[in-house]
Amino acid sequence: MLTNDQLSQWDRENFFHPSTHLAQHARGESPSRIVTGGDGVFIEDRDGNRLLDGFAGLYCVNVGYGRTEIQDAIAAQARELAYYHAYVGHGTEASITLSKMVLDRAPSNMSKVYFGLGGSDANETNIKLVWYYNNILGRPEKKKIISRWRGYHGSGLMTGSLTGLAGFHKKFDLPLSQVKHTTAPDYFRRDDLNQTEAQFVAHCVSELEALIEREGADTIAAFIGEPVLGTGGLVPPPAGYWEAIQKVLKRHDILMIADEVVTGFGRLGTMFGSDHYGIEADIITIAKGLTSAYAPLSGSIISDKVWKVLEQGTDENGPIGHGWTYSAHPIGAAAGVANLNLIDSMDLVDNAGKMGAYFNKAMADAVGGHAHVGDVRGEGLLCAVEFVEDKSDRTFYDSSKKIGPQLAAALLKRNVIARAMPQGDIIGFAPPLCLSKTEADSIVLSMADSIKEVLG
Ligand code: PMP
Repeated sequence: MLTNDQLSQWDRENFFHPSTHLAQHARGESPSRIVTGGDGVFIEDRDGNRLLDGFAGLYCVNVGYGRTEIQDAIAAQARELAYYHAYVGHGTEASITLSKMVLDRAPSNMSKVYFGLGGSDANETNIKLVWYYNNILGRPEKKKIISRWRGYHGSGLMTGSLTGLAGFHKKFDLPLSQVKHTTAPDYFRRDDLNQTEAQFVAHCVSELEALIEREGADTIAAFIGEPVLGTGGLVPPPAGYWEAIQKVLKRHDILMIADEVVTGFGRLGTMFGSDHYGIEADIITIAKGLTSAYAPLSGSIISDKVWKVLEQGTDENGPIGHGWTYSAHPIGAAAGVANLNLIDSMDLVDNAGKMGAYFNKAMADAVGGHAHVGDVRGEGLLCAVEFVEDKSDRTFYDSSKKIGPQLAAALLKRNVIARAMPQGDIIGFAPPLCLSKTEADSIVLSMADSIKEVLG
């Protein structure tokens, strides 16, 4: 067996890691970990650590680690047929079954599902389909896409543009000009501290209206948003936000894309975030929880309204010019079928709702009163704690103090993985949906201890 030192050396010399400080990693200065196994909410590494994964990988291992049902389904599919493509009407039992299972769970206006590999490529598909849709409808000018600052939709050329985080744009010549960003629905970070929540929603709406006015509604094709802002800080929307936003979109004939890569398949205690917030999407993006990341698979769920136009397009122009070699990959599809069955049999949507409510309340009770905790928020099994230097006037810490990363490191010392979210001093939790009460309590206790250690 290779030694840890040998692997670390090869890692530094050969491996280009995503979202990593390349130079520090190559010099061996930044943290690294060789992960070897997992069961339930825990992972293990080569140094013999056993860690409670409070972020389910990248909020994707929703059923937890080590589920034999999915492992066996993947192995059986690999033995039977590891690959065939899905072009010109080809499929496998797994991909066809999964499409039905997804549609059975999706909102009733949905018609078909296109399978990709990850959230980024699913959103690239969505934007192409929206452009195609407007071309078929004879509206070639209606192409711009509105996204929110601090939204996260991927890191491709278009999807990195949709992502409203500066780090994904800087030095990459992004965002592309067709993408326009509007206000993030983060009440805690509102500019005007005197605003009520209702006034803040009205502000978000008027900013959206002003953007549409400036650009011209006849140039705007779609609005994309996560039901709960994810990577941008785990921020549930203020009450009434989605209802008000959708009214504006409908009035201007702008399609709604709900990016449910994080919220799909139970995270908020409902099958989709759209169910939770009454979002009537034209297209829904899914990934992560579709297979609980046991194999790469994503999807674009297309409404009847959009589908009819796509059909018309192919009648006029021939087969749709869009597809990946690995669309609906049989191994991903087999993982998806086993995963969705497991979500049902383990009652994980219900557990996410109930355990999420328990976890969020326990967290708020334990740390909400601390002098430097500005906000404890969450929905289902998403929970974030945001830190401030001064609570009375919501002064944020200077980022050079690295309060968030210090807290994440303190949690790690206690064998709990949390995520220091990039937009401020925010510690995020998104554990597997199978979280138990004992595990929830242990995260909360570790968080309280870590805050004491770092901030007193
Ligand atoms: N959309 C959302 C809401 C996401 O959270 C992510 C990934 N964190 C993506 C899209 C992109 O997915 P992927 O990393 O699989 O390309």
